[in-house]
Amino acid sequence: MTRYTGGVRHDYKDTEAGPPGRRWALFILGLTLPLIGAVLLVLGTPREPAPIARIEAALQAPTEALPVTVPGTILENPLQALEPTLLAPAAKPLIDPASSMLNLLVRPGDTLELLFRRNGLSLSDLAAIVSLPDATRALKVLKPGDRLEIAHRDGQVVSLQREIDEVKVLSIARADSGFAAHTIERPVDIRTTGAHGVIQSSLFEAGTAAGIADRLVMDMAGIFEWDVDFIQDVRDGDQFSVIYEELWRDGVKLRDGAVVAAEFVNQGKTFRAARFRGSDGHVDYFTPEGRSLRKAFIRAPLNFTRISSNFNPNRRHPLLNTIRAHQGVDYAAPTGTPVRAAGTGKVLFRGVQGGYGNVLILQHGGNITTLYGHLSRFASARVGARVEQGDIIAYVGMTGLATGPHLHYEYRINGVHRNPRTVALPPAEPVPPEHQAEFRLATEPLWRELDVFPQGTATTAAN
Ligand SMILES: [Zn+2]
Repeated sequence: MTRYTGGVRHDYKDTEAGPPGRRWALFILGLTLPLIGAVLLVLGTPREPAPIARIEAALQAPTEALPVTVPGTILENPLQALEPTLLAPAAKPLIDPASSMLNLLVRPGDTLELLFRRNGLSLSDLAAIVSLPDATRALKVLKPGDRLEIAHRDGQVVSLQREIDEVKVLSIARADSGFAAHTIERPVDIRTTGAHGVIQSSLFEAGTAAGIADRLVMDMAGIFEWDVDFIQDVRDGDQFSVIYEELWRDGVKLRDGAVVAAEFVNQGKTFRAARFRGSDGHVDYFTPEGRSLRKAFIRAPLNFTRISSNFNPNRRHPLLNTIRAHQGVDYAAPTGTPVRAAGTGKVLFRGVQGGYGNVLILQHGGNITTLYGHLSRFASARVGARVEQGDIIAYVGMTGLATGPHLHYEYRINGVHRNPRTVALPPAEPVPPEHQAEFRLATEPLWRELDVFPQGTATTAAN
């Protein structure tokens, strides 16, 4: 089992892939469009006149040949029509029975242009499709693993579908003049289910036996890690129950969602947690009494390899060779290791501070400050910005006086240095009094459900 020291598990915001890199997108487009034009010119027999812009682009195209033999696209069933798997039945376009369906899986190095060439599809159709305003962005970047469904008749594109994300599909169909693009939304169905396990050798094996993925085991352990040391304290006979969400669409499970509620019985002691979103939108896990499962601070704000120097009021400084109090803890970690905000707060300082090199200081509630030193660089949060516990604020380095890459981490209460490894950490905010009634109403059924594990069945109606 790996450390849970990172803040990822406390970041209950939905993770979402960012927009594709703009430079990369432009590169692909720049590569693709001139090539299409160049091919059209070379072949001299475009089935449809290419737009003037394409011809002009072709004239400016680089002359060196680009590799054509790229590790292959898997052509799944190229000859017969396939049921489109991406679309809900209602959204399925009318497919001309005379057309053939290609289900293309994007491989590393693939571009749309390569896919079209390899499958004998019309390149002038491609030029028309990528110039559709609604399609340009969704088609600019292909990632390995992406899928395209293309219906065609003798290489002439009839329709093209591309999954944009879990809920959206770009659908392009031949229209009276050229092509028309629109986006189809496919609702995701959130179902709630549950599992129960008894630990016999390890937590992960118990999870597997209970039919849940390692990722979900990690999420559950992340909720209780403030109370249970999953490396040291887990014993055979410990038990867990977890109620969690699954995302489904068209009868197919996409992935696990968030843990809704969970129970962990560690050496006879029972811990319970339920997720609750206050009306202010803040999501956290709370005990049945409405206390947060978290502390207001992460004990160590990074994944470290070892502690290279402890808090020590009488330390001899390794470089200065003088007795100088070591006011923090040094966590050795490779340069570039993300450093996370130990607690929610505001950036009070970021800049250079003598021997500590690049330093970032956070101001938290309760007149607590945390300091992060020897950083190689800072993340985006600037002075005055609010950061959430677990947000990446900087990266490990060895700026200032340091013999190797490490994080120098300090914890101060009212300006007094305290040992970050032993100081009593305040609990995170409980359910606010004005949300208590709402909290009880929302979580009561969850506690009841945990009561009946493992005898009862946890599967409940979808959302
Ligand atoms: Zn230090």
